[in-house]
Amino acid sequence: MKISELQAHIQSFDYAPEQSHHYFLKLIEEVGELSQAINQQKSGQPELAELKGSVAEELYDVLYYVCALANVHGVDLERTHELKEVLNKAKYNR
Ligand SMILES: [Mg+2]
Repeated sequence: MKISELQAHIQSFDYAPEQSHHYFLKLIEEVGELSQAINQQKSGQPELAELKGSVAEELYDVLYYVCALANVHGVDLERTHELKEVLNKAKYNR
């Protein structure tokens, strides 16, 4: 799945521009859960039975709210990636 497809998928059932601050708070909450999962060394690609609380799950949760925030702020993450690549190539001499 492409990032644009993930953004569109999330927007299809979770799009509330008036909830922008809520999405931001959820993102911070999920970053905290990701920190816990990393500290507990719950790395690797789990199957469904081991997904809860894993780094994989929390990374996805972070990505979910990044996409939700991008949607309510009218940001195309794929286009932004292209633009940032230009800036980063110059900044880091890649
Ligand atoms: Mg979570």
